[in-house]
Amino acid sequence: MMRSMPDRLPQTLQKTISERLHFYEDLGINLFYKQRNTQQPQPPATQFADSLAARATQQISNEESSLPKTARKPEPPKPAQSTNLAVPPRPTRTPDILPVPSGPTLFEAFTRVPDDNLLKIRTDLGECTRCKLHRTRNKIVFGDGNPKAELVFVGEGPGHDEDMQGLPFVGRAGKLLTQMIEAMGLQRKDVYICNVVKCRPPENRAPEKDEVAACSPFLMRQIDSIAPKVIVCLGSTAAQTVLETNRGISQFRGQWLEFRGRKLMATYHPAYLLRNPSAKSEVWKDLQKVMAVLGLEPKKGKPADAAKPS
Ligand code: SF4
Repeated sequence: MMRSMPDRLPQTLQKTISERLHFYEDLGINLFYKQRNTQQPQPPATQFADSLAARATQQISNEESSLPKTARKPEPPKPAQSTNLAVPPRPTRTPDILPVPSGPTLFEAFTRVPDDNLLKIRTDLGECTRCKLHRTRNKIVFGDGNPKAELVFVGEGPGHDEDMQGLPFVGRAGKLLTQMIEAMGLQRKDVYICNVVKCRPPENRAPEKDEVAACSPFLMRQIDSIAPKVIVCLGSTAAQTVLETNRGISQFRGQWLEFRGRKLMATYHPAYLLRNPSAKSEVWKDLQKVMAVLGLEPKKGKPADAAKPS
């Protein structure tokens, strides 16, 4: 009795082996099947027959592999593989760290108040005690100017003069800002001026993080309500607050940036210009870019302006 060929062998190979086994059978070797379910050792003749069968299989296999390729049985087509090495393999598991979604920043996510206006914002601010700056202030400096201005200037916070008057940029730095605005062919009443924090920090120090966090939502509402074409941030505190960055202002000063769908330009604070008059030329270049966007012509027939390069 001949044992059956394994199913995985090709039919031609099975046929050839079968013929060889019949040949061995004709020679009197009739022990090619064995009791696989028993643990008994095989008789030497069975081992010999198996050895012959293995060698026959190996020989036939070698013969087949030496055949010309055209004579080989065609292999089933393999699934096409991409040769694009730039395509990374599909991940086999969910990554532990999800990618940071590209979405609105904290301020951009700040809910816009429908039908907001400056009067409503000032009413909501009230006699504010949301941060510790309220303890030392004299007056809240909310902001001043055209509620529909195309240009908004944002400073850092009130100084002594502003704290006393309740108006932004009315000290020495404020006078220089007024000259800059006029050099642009505008007047103060044409623009809107406000600060990141509405109360004066003691000793004119920079506002602290918690103070900025408490007060800046009102600045955002002011900007949204006015909806200017251009925002000019004066100094690093204003720029870093609005842009939510720790980068120094010199790294992005004079470049057009985007904030809540509006064009934003950061430049030096007028107080800095008072200490460093040579920087006026840089600020004037920045303001000329703003003028180009707003379609403004510099004021003519005026003596050398403090904002212009000397
Ligand atoms: Fe309120 Fe702003 Fe003044 Fe702080 S700085 S007390 S948040 S108005």
